[in-house]
Amino acid sequence: MAAGFDRLSLAGKVAIVTGGGNGIGAETACLMASRGAAVLIADIDEDAAWRTERQIADEGGRATALRVDVGSAADLQAMVDAAVDMFGGLHILCNNAFFQVIGSVEQLSEADWDRTQTVSLKSVFLGSKFAIPRIRASGGGAIVNTASMHAITGFRGFAAYQSAKGGVCALTRQMAMDYGHENIRVNAVLPGPTVTAAFAQVPESYVRISARRTPILRTGRPDETAEAIAFLASDAASLITGIAMPVDGGATIVGEPDWLDEKPVILA
Ligand code: NAD
Repeated sequence: MAAGFDRLSLAGKVAIVTGGGNGIGAETACLMASRGAAVLIADIDEDAAWRTERQIADEGGRATALRVDVGSAADLQAMVDAAVDMFGGLHILCNNAFFQVIGSVEQLSEADWDRTQTVSLKSVFLGSKFAIPRIRASGGGAIVNTASMHAITGFRGFAAYQSAKGGVCALTRQMAMDYGHENIRVNAVLPGPTVTAAFAQVPESYVRISARRTPILRTGRPDETAEAIAFLASDAASLITGIAMPVDGGATIVGEPDWLDEKPVILA
């Protein structure tokens, strides 16, 4: 037994967190830094990334901010190179940034669909593609992808986002299969309704209904999702790979679709 050894510690590890300027990504970057990781905060919003960097520095951690559009292959390659150049290796990649346009297939334009898939799904493919050789060269590590409860449950009006997040979970399983033997674990977290800026895009009625239909009867906080991500990235999760872990107050176990309440039903 490794007595006295904190397997949640990230001391000596180098991590990248995309979308690390706000919300779940910012909380993840701060938590990982507090557990000893050197963190590259990648965000399209440079000011937000700098804010997270300053917060980590103020708390005595190591971090650097970089403007990255995860929809750009060149930016993703530069992000991985920067982490290795600056901190001497790479052990953890958190693919967390996203983009969504709300709408059904009829409401969405082709451009809405393409941008959602590029930023929310293709970025996981390309970010991992560039990071994996560096993680391998650093002796192994972990990729944690932020998917969503939308990956495994149905909601009206999220056609593009739902598809992208389902793809993230499938890609997570696939990468876990392909790289487990090289000491690279790949997992996903599935947040439920979590109070971040992303919430501003979602109708309040949806948020209210989501909270009411959650067994713990409240929305989540981004620091609660960060705890799950940091755990999966750490040696404490050394036997866990290929999973999609709901972090949702139980929202995904509730099988009662709210809008069907209003529809007439047929009892066969
Ligand atoms: P947020 O809006 O608070 O933060 C997202 C961050 O990503 C922002 O800093 C933004 O600037 C950055 N970003 C956006 N596009 C980018 C791009 N092209 N390149 C780089 N950075 C980019 O959102 P959040 O709620 O913290 O969401 C984080 C993750 O959690 C997302 O993957 C989201 O799908 C997932 N999620 C959130 C909720 C929720 O209720 N908040 C629920 C389920 C899943």
